[in-house]
Amino acid sequence: MLQRLEQQSPDALLALIKLYNADDRPSKIDLGVGVYRTADGATPVFAAIKGAERRLVDDQPSKAYLGPEGDMGFVTALVPHIFGDTAPADGRLDGMQTPGGTGAVRLALALAKRAGARRVLMGTPSWPNHAQIVSDLELEVVGFSHAADNGRADMAALRSALGDADEKDVVLLHGCCHNPTGVDYTNDEWDEIAGLLAQSPVLPVIDLAYQGLGDGMEEDAYGLRAVAGRVDEVLVAYSCDKNFGLYRDRVGAFYVLTGDPAATTRVVSNAAALARANWSMPPDHGGAAVRVVLDDEALTAQWLEELAAMRGRIAQVRERLASANHAGAVDLEPLGRQKGMFAMLPVNKEQVQMLRDDHAIYMAGSGRINVAGLTMGNIDTFVSALAEVAAN
Ligand code: PMP
Repeated sequence: MLQRLEQQSPDALLALIKLYNADDRPSKIDLGVGVYRTADGATPVFAAIKGAERRLVDDQPSKAYLGPEGDMGFVTALVPHIFGDTAPADGRLDGMQTPGGTGAVRLALALAKRAGARRVLMGTPSWPNHAQIVSDLELEVVGFSHAADNGRADMAALRSALGDADEKDVVLLHGCCHNPTGVDYTNDEWDEIAGLLAQSPVLPVIDLAYQGLGDGMEEDAYGLRAVAGRVDEVLVAYSCDKNFGLYRDRVGAFYVLTGDPAATTRVVSNAAALARANWSMPPDHGGAAVRVVLDDEALTAQWLEELAAMRGRIAQVRERLASANHAGAVDLEPLGRQKGMFAMLPVNKEQVQMLRDDHAIYMAGSGRINVAGLTMGNIDTFVSALAEVAAN
């Protein structure tokens, strides 16, 4: 039977990591993989997480099974950070822990499918796994342009996609720090989107995977809260893997907000059934560490400080790129206005290949770079390499 399976190509970014590791040029620069890096190129464990992990080692009484909903202390502790004042305390909002933000996206879309969804509207380009999950669920991807030529969000395309949509449609929106473009909606645009969604039968799914890496924890939740305050139903897929640096521990959460506590209970019962059939229950350790951080004032303050330092470094690199005036034909100015770890450079596949072959600079074939891969020490090398390949 297994002979019927066709060979699949490996994930392009994971393949790029292997190539990078095999490159022995000391000046090599990795702008491919989507993890935060310090100015020294490291991706350290947060000190606040280390502190929480020490407490878990000392105090955790058991590792016996939890349920499919995972650690509800973790899920609840995140709510004020994500939803702020829009969080109702009357049972209309509920959630569960998931294996990473990926698990939460999967759960949200599988649930929408169970509820009769047929199509998922999404701005393109998007995180490549969005389309893979949609297709794997045998839903249809309906793409619309996310970023306009002026380097800002393409609101006209979003308006038109929502205008053409019906009650079997889901719209998948990035809450902040859009991956891969870095182009976020402004607060005014979010207000408009919330108004459009309030009038529309489309189910919004908001993927918030980088809260705190754009303008701040509160600022980065503006869009989600604007939408949650206006619509009858919204699903949220949340990741703690970037803003707590927990990547491989797979820490995420799924939330549902509806107009009626009984409806929310029904939705969550379906989400629990789907979770049980997919992964039974999420891995515990990372979520438990986040709970310990959020339940402790000193650890929370330490975490927020560490997060602010990451955000500051990303903003500093972006500013430096935006003001670089020797990048030749490549306009880096929009990067100063964009948010988060990622940006799309206007380079073609040949130029990406030349950057790799001639300059040991590694980035995705699409031209996406991880801004955090740059440091004050290698940024000038990067900018002149870019100018050189663009002039060719
Ligand atoms: N959504 C987006 C937009 C992402 O970029 C990512 C991670 N690259 C995720 C979700 C999933 O994150 P996690 O590692 O927590 O599964």
